[in-house]
Amino acid sequence: MSTNLTDDQMFSEAWQAFNEEVPNDSAAVDFLYDSLVIYNKIACACRQPQIIHMPGERFYSCRNCKKVSWVTSGTLFAGVVKLRAWLALVWLKERGITISAMRFSRLLEIAQSTALNIQKRLGMVVQEKLDDSSPGVPAQVLASIIIKRSKETPAQAHPRAELANDTTSDHPFVSLDEWMNSAAHETDLRSAIADFLKNRDPQHASSISYESIVSAIGAAITYIRTHFQGVSGKCLQLYLASFWCHFDRLRWSNGAILLACIEHAPISYQEMFRFVSPPLVKIFALPR
Ligand SMILES: [Zn+2]
Repeated sequence: MSTNLTDDQMFSEAWQAFNEEVPNDSAAVDFLYDSLVIYNKIACACRQPQIIHMPGERFYSCRNCKKVSWVTSGTLFAGVVKLRAWLALVWLKERGITISAMRFSRLLEIAQSTALNIQKRLGMVVQEKLDDSSPGVPAQVLASIIIKRSKETPAQAHPRAELANDTTSDHPFVSLDEWMNSAAHETDLRSAIADFLKNRDPQHASSISYESIVSAIGAAITYIRTHFQGVSGKCLQLYLASFWCHFDRLRWSNGAILLACIEHAPISYQEMFRFVSPPLVKIFALPR
């Protein structure tokens, strides 16, 4: 295989492989069941479990105690109708492929709202893995990609207005609104961020260079513009998680997102609806 594949070639290969592995809904259940077995997640509390799963069935049973369990139970996939669509997005993301909700909806023949909901929930799962090793960056430095409204956007204001005004801290972005709107901001951005991080985050100074954080911010802005045009302030962190996933191929290689989903509790619509990006967003984490 060439190491220099274009995005289209990468997508074609990954999509073809997914269709061979998971051609339909019952294969999707079997794929998840097999993964649960691999990750040692199939269990019964009785003394001598004898687990039986019939191909294509959404449940499995224990012959010893007669207990019946859903394959999706206790995972992010609990109760989902379009399991194959969820697995498809997991599959593509694990292979470093980002697709818009619109393209995803066409590909899997699902509603665009469903596609968006799947995308957001996977984003929520991944962003939780951005731990304390990840430097917090004020959302304002990503203001240029905040172009979509959300329920958090103040009435009749630009989507950017929902970014929190961090007046309690003394970081150098207190007058960021004016600064972002000035003509000079593109050239000043790098040094302003570097100064900010130098002052704010001394504990990370030894492990992460300012330059690498500044580069990551620039790459995240380019990534979000390229794949999504822009985002809302509310969902910014979810798309930054997608960026992390896309670029950290070691951390999020094949199986890694699926395992995170298997180990994650279901996310209700209300939880998804209530999600709001923090004032200090995270872009990447250090390797574990
Ligand atoms: Zn049992």
